[in-house]
Amino acid sequence: MKSAYAPTTRPTGGLLSLEEALERMLGGVAPLPAERVALAEALGRVLAEPVDSLLTLPPWDNSAMDGFAVRSADLAGAGRERPHSLRLVGESAAGHATRVTVEAGTAVSILTGAPLPAGADAVVPVEETDGGDPAREQRGVVQIFQPAVAGAHIRRAGSDLRPGYPLVAASETLGPQALAVCAAGGHGSVAVHRRPQLGVLATGDELVEPGTELGEAQIPDSNTVGLLGQAVEAGADARSLGIAGDRLDDVLERLRPALGWADVVVVSGGVSVGLHDVVKEAFERLGRLELWRVAVQPGKPLAFARAPRAGAADEVLLFGLPGNPVSSFVTFELFVRPVLRRLGGHAELSGRERVRARLRERVGKAPGRRAFLRVRLERGPGEWQASLAGGQGSHVLSALVAADGLAIVPEERDALEEGEEVEVIVLRQVGQPVGR
Ligand code: AMP
Ligand code: MG
Repeated sequence: MKSAYAPTTRPTGGLLSLEEALERMLGGVAPLPAERVALAEALGRVLAEPVDSLLTLPPWDNSAMDGFAVRSADLAGAGRERPHSLRLVGESAAGHATRVTVEAGTAVSILTGAPLPAGADAVVPVEETDGGDPAREQRGVVQIFQPAVAGAHIRRAGSDLRPGYPLVAASETLGPQALAVCAAGGHGSVAVHRRPQLGVLATGDELVEPGTELGEAQIPDSNTVGLLGQAVEAGADARSLGIAGDRLDDVLERLRPALGWADVVVVSGGVSVGLHDVVKEAFERLGRLELWRVAVQPGKPLAFARAPRAGAADEVLLFGLPGNPVSSFVTFELFVRPVLRRLGGHAELSGRERVRARLRERVGKAPGRRAFLRVRLERGPGEWQASLAGGQGSHVLSALVAADGLAIVPEERDALEEGEEVEVIVLRQVGQPVGR
């Protein structure tokens, strides 16, 4: 039987396939140039070049415990019943160089991370001595209750890092652990890709700022904040260009300034075939319309254009996303996110896990288009199970917010039966299924 999740690029009804559309969008798109930023500013940034260690770490042999630096030969046969007394000749504390030498019959009091003094070949933890008692230590003697193996409780120079040792590879995203290892390796700053700059414009005479009172025939603009959030999650710096009415001059007026600073502009609404859908025309005025209409559901009337950047040789990428909130979310996820990740220097463009899941109900869809259904994921015995997260209309935000992922139904299927397998793009981390 043909697999339900096999990718297909079959063009359908004159529409572009998802793959063809994405290939055109990614054409000529390269990672943005590098900039150097302080480590404290670099969380979540993508490395433009590999980071190697500049240092040997630890720089010198040091103690892994609070205790006493000793010569192991002095402690042969030591025990609780037969403690060995060693004369204390000094102290080695973290942050202070020590010049004392441990000779036969002597010990140096040592703290975790402090350099191992010359002559010593082991550390005895304070718990195995009568140390820690200031009165006794003042007498200049410590009693040791156990033998020591040479090398015990010593962290060797270079046992973590050496100069040239690779720390983090290029195109990795810097998380807390990566920042810490870069710092340990002697770096104060790193070369990361510039973040893509993105502008979001909402269009529609019916839209008002969220949280304001609705007049007759008005609804809140919910796309702008959602798209700004998706852009930031994809690694961009994003700002709103406001809400344009359904008029060409208004749309153009709000888009033109963005051509001076943005790498990518996302417009929502006004891209369909309605009388007042002016976004395609705006794109044609500003640049070159490269595609319109893709065989996906939701999101068919997607438009993509390139416009010359004001005063520069490069181009601004313009996406016209359908205004229905679920369509705008899904088309951003499928098309804008990979482009932003490429610009930001990521090697992997989706940044999403995919899982196979068994459908718990029959699902239908539009013929000839690849559908992305909003589903909940649950752990079944040894497998994921997917069920619809609610109504699949492209205006139903409540089902989008309830969804763990987008189940992919291929173009050539009009429906999938209960029990069939689907591939699901995981939007939310919900842990691993049991039994795998
Ligand atoms: P359009 O793509 O402009 O034809 O819009 C399709 C549907 O999405 C209409 O019901 C619009 O009211 C709605 N819509 C468009 N833009 C937004 C937005 N920014 N926020 C919420 N709904 C929107
Ligand atoms: Mg509209």
